[in-house]
Amino acid sequence: MQEKSISELAAGLRAGEFSSAELTRFYLDRISQHDEKLNSYITVTEEAALAAAESADARLKSGDADLLTGIPVANKDIFCTNGVKSSCGSRMLDNFIAPYDAGVISRLKGAGAVLLGKTNMDEFAMGSSNETSYYGPVRNPWDTELVPGGSSGGSAAAVAAGLCVAATGTDTGGSIRQPAALCGITGLKPTYGRVSRFGMIAFASSLDQGGPMTRSAEDAAIMLQSMAGFDERDSTSAQEAVPNYLADIDADLKGLKIGLPKEYFDEGLSPEVAASIQEAIDFYRQQGAEIIDISLPNSALSVPVYYVVAPAECSSNLARFDGVRFGHRCDDPKDLEDLYKRSRGEGFGAEVKRRILIGTYALSAGYYDAYYLKAQQIRHLISDDFAKAFEQVDVIMGPTAPTTAFGLGEKADDPVSMYLSDIYTIAVNLAGLPGMSVPVRPADGKPVGLQIIGNYFQEAKLLNVAHRLQQETEWHKARPATFA
Ligand code: GLN
Repeated sequence: MQEKSISELAAGLRAGEFSSAELTRFYLDRISQHDEKLNSYITVTEEAALAAAESADARLKSGDADLLTGIPVANKDIFCTNGVKSSCGSRMLDNFIAPYDAGVISRLKGAGAVLLGKTNMDEFAMGSSNETSYYGPVRNPWDTELVPGGSSGGSAAAVAAGLCVAATGTDTGGSIRQPAALCGITGLKPTYGRVSRFGMIAFASSLDQGGPMTRSAEDAAIMLQSMAGFDERDSTSAQEAVPNYLADIDADLKGLKIGLPKEYFDEGLSPEVAASIQEAIDFYRQQGAEIIDISLPNSALSVPVYYVVAPAECSSNLARFDGVRFGHRCDDPKDLEDLYKRSRGEGFGAEVKRRILIGTYALSAGYYDAYYLKAQQIRHLISDDFAKAFEQVDVIMGPTAPTTAFGLGEKADDPVSMYLSDIYTIAVNLAGLPGMSVPVRPADGKPVGLQIIGNYFQEAKLLNVAHRLQQETEWHKARPATFA
């Protein structure tokens, strides 16, 4: 049952083979049976899920159902969910019951999806291994001694282990694509502005974007169909019409121009990952695609630029968590200053504090021009590199991450090496482009992700390119044996 795609489940529900209540029970049972080994959920909303399943069954009977009606999905704990703890993986929000739904949550509820609960994540989405969560690390279902990637590691692990049909994630510098790669699932970070940021707890507002994490490109298309669209409550939400993402998903790839940036195949890339990526590129060549060598000359600057821009924006966004307006409050404060200092000192973990300090420094008078302004200028050069490339090619391909999943604790004390796991994903956020990760041949039994990058609002093209691969190969169907 946990192998079935969304469209297969939708057909089963309509044919009366099973009800949404039964399907939901099945997934809730899997969570209670398996999640102890993974820690992928922070909160499971069993009662609400069963009630939503009952309504979905009624809606299915009435004939007025969406493809997602009655399908059990999970949401990253960064999305505010009415009446449910929405912690963002932080002690700061451990006591926060959101009083409203994020835009993404309202849309999924509107489609009749059954929300199983909230998935674990790096604290405030800062991390690449899920080890910064206040609720403890998530483990990779392929090998529980390995990290699942981050920051949407709970969603990635839950999808890979079959503890939900599909999930949502967010991606500021790679947090949908990198954990998707490390857990062997499909992840799509849409164009900036495609999916509403309303109610998505902000990390770096000019980079954050929500998207689907699924077992296939077809499932991602169905999820994105519900998640995408204009939201007047998000001032950077795109007005662009949402196309039908399934309409051209089967289209032929003959003549597709694929760009391979030489900077994505340099000495930082593990040879095993490189070999799997090459094999996938050969597949596309056989499908009639044209492979073109390109260059994104400013790629090497993307990590340093990101680690100025993202901390700067986070230092401002996280100022609201002060123990007065939002968040954890310390016991018995002596005075106001003591209240601020101790509440923030106790509420935030080490990585969040590091980012707030860096960001505050970069934005302070006298340093703003040297750091933040400079970083924004280089950000333009990075976008221009992509703009030039897309004059020549339809999509860009390369690895999602330089290595396969690493060991728990292996990089925990070395922030720079941790930051480098996003070396191929970060530029896409800086430019606001859509990017996707799809599983290709595993290396040494560990999943590898192929990254596909498109031009603005070309999500349908990415889904098409990914779907063709998944129709002809079985890599996306591989599942970790322990969770069969
Ligand atoms: N790993 C990156 C960071 O720690 C990206 C995180 C993300 O995309 N949310 O900032």
